[in-house]
Formats: sequence, C-alpha cells, structure tokens
Amino acid sequence: MPDCLFCKIADGTIPATLVHQDDEVVAFEDLNPQAPLHVLVIPRRHVPTMNELGAEHDQVMGRLYRVAAAIAGRRGVAASGWRAVMNANRDAGQTVFHVHLHVLGGRQLGWPPG
Ligand code: AMP
Ligand code: ZN
Repeated sequence: MPDCLFCKIADGTIPATLVHQDDEVVAFEDLNPQAPLHVLVIPRRHVPTMNELGAEHDQVMGRLYRVAAAIAGRRGVAASGWRAVMNANRDAGQTVFHVHLHVLGGRQLGWPPG
C-alpha cells in the first residue's frame, strides 16, 4: 500500500528501530512507548484491520505471536509478564491502519485496559 506508514517501515523506505525481520514479519520499537518494552510486530503484507483477516492470513498471524514471545524472552519479561494487544478501528484507538501487535512489558500493566 503506497501511503501506508507501516508498509514503508517494512520495506525500509521509512526508518525504524528494527528488532526482528523475516520473510513475513517485521518488528520495531514503538515511537511513543507506553512501557519499558513496547514493540510493534507487523505482517509485511498489508491488512488494514483485523476485520479484513481471511484464512490466507492465519499463518502470519500465528507468527506475529511467536515473534512477540521471542522478543519478550530476549527482553527479559517472559517470566515477569507481558501483553500482546491489537486494536481495531475507532473505539479501540487504532491510528495506523496496517495491523500491528503491540508487545508491552517491563512494568505492571493495568487491567482492564482503558
Ligand atoms: P494503534 O493506536 O494501535 O494504531 O498504534 C499505533 C502505534 O504506532 C502507536 O503506538 C504509535 O506510537 C506507533 N507509531 C506511529 N508512528 C510510528 C513510527 N513512525 N514508528 C514507530 N511507531 C510508530
Ligand atoms: Zn500497510
């Protein structure tokens, strides 16, 4: 998608602090971190929101979680606790319309989320 910020991060035309990349998935530091660990994990392939997911995305969505868990492990929060969350549309506060998994940790996280 030509005008998508996260497609541009995935293809390297907009810089980000990458923490993981493979053929299907890219992960990078959130620009405005809400916790000591705040990484975004995205599929390279553009999908605007969870509402547009089809069976063809099943594999990559699973990989997002596996990459998230690997990052949590590397960053030392696997045992203390961490959260993976994906927002969809207005009421959830989605601002970038390319699906992304927020990986948060390194502090006590409130529940329920606001
Ligand atoms: P959401 O509100 O769920 O759509 O999350 C979008 C996230 O993208 C927010 O946490 C922003 O801080 C983050 N963000 C926006 N622009 C950038 C960027 N250029 N690099 C890294 N993170 C970004
Ligand atoms: Zn995109």
